Amino acid sequence: MKATRFGDAADLLLHGGRIRTFDPHGSVTDALAVADGRIVAVGAEAKRLPATEVIDLDDRTAIPGVNDAHLHAAWLGARWPHLFFSDAPQAHQPAGELVRTDAERRGALREAWRLLAELGITSYTEPGIGPGEDDGETGCFGTAMLDAYLDLHRRGAQTARVTLLRLFGTLDGSADLDAFERGIAEPRPETDPRWLAVTGVKIFADGIPPMTTAWVSEPYPDGSTGALLPRGAEGALHAYRRMIELAVSHGEQVAVHATGDRSIEEFLRVLEARPRNDAAPHYVVHGDLATPGQIARMRAIGSGFAVQPLIAAHTREWAGAQLGEERIATAWPLDRMLRSGALTTITSDAPIATPDWRRSLDASLALLGRDDAESREALLRSITVSPAIQDGAADWKGTLEAGKVADITVLDEDPVEPGRALAGIGIARTIVDGRTVHLRA
Ligand SMILES: [Zn+2]
Repeated sequence: MKATRFGDAADLLLHGGRIRTFDPHGSVTDALAVADGRIVAVGAEAKRLPATEVIDLDDRTAIPGVNDAHLHAAWLGARWPHLFFSDAPQAHQPAGELVRTDAERRGALREAWRLLAELGITSYTEPGIGPGEDDGETGCFGTAMLDAYLDLHRRGAQTARVTLLRLFGTLDGSADLDAFERGIAEPRPETDPRWLAVTGVKIFADGIPPMTTAWVSEPYPDGSTGALLPRGAEGALHAYRRMIELAVSHGEQVAVHATGDRSIEEFLRVLEARPRNDAAPHYVVHGDLATPGQIARMRAIGSGFAVQPLIAAHTREWAGAQLGEERIATAWPLDRMLRSGALTTITSDAPIATPDWRRSLDASLALLGRDDAESREALLRSITVSPAIQDGAADWKGTLEAGKVADITVLDEDPVEPGRALAGIGIARTIVDGRTVHLRA
């Protein structure tokens, strides 16, 4: 940022609509000025600055750029338009190797970025790319995909900011402790963390409740309890705990795929025995069967959950058949997570479900069982403010305040106003780093 520009002129002025800043007071303003990719002023002060480009919001609503804190972009781009769960019938599902060449890998990323820009998504977490998947079936998660990311990153081709987690086991599968230990000793690639931040590692603890592979304390109706996926000479539990400890001691952010209460419990026990890390919080991905006590303990250690209400909606019946109605009634405790103050991000896990965050928030409202402005704002913060905290980037993104990056999503209607589906709200424009990356035709 050129300091001389700050405060005397702007590249861009947004005005003529409602600008929801999502700052700590929930301030709403009517103007915002940008210089060199940063917000330099809001409100009356912004309107006083001479600006090169002026965008009239025309009564629309601007919110901080949407951040999907768990989205497999490479896989999404390679599969699009095919999703695993969708309201539309999916006749044909792509199978086997989806990308083979460098050009195809870069093409998958570019396709995902095009789609995300259309959806107003300006940041996301790519949860798990690395050597553990070098022989993987799809070709979407191995070292070659990391190279495609680095290549496009260094060429300045990104239209979304990426937080990337390394993967030293297989996606949704087992991981060997020795391989994990070797992998984590490898240095992270050199990148500009504003665009591609390699913050940590993804560990798969267990499976999913509908397949009775979530590791649970209360047995499933068939008497089984699921099991841990990590493997090591001293057993699965030792391997799991050791992976978390190794990652934390290497300064890595730890994201654990954990759906069963026992997997979450062991994650908590390891972290509770260590000093708290507020830089980029460790977190549980999914957390389907987290107990009230575990949610409170997550908050106490500054950790949180990346949850997928849309997957819950798609799998509720299936999971209910396996777990029983009584148990399913307490699954996906989104309301409790939000009320507890534990860091909670609402994510898509695309291409499992659609990356369309408007549908995720509609599913969230259904899960909460209410629709009011306060709940809507809390949900919207879970796709903007909270993911920035999860990224360890809350000091420079996630809200529309002076000093933060100009990542902005412009919507046709105010998403905080209750009473209608978010899915019906059009996305007019997406701005990343002060630059329009999507303008609806
Ligand atoms: Zn995932």
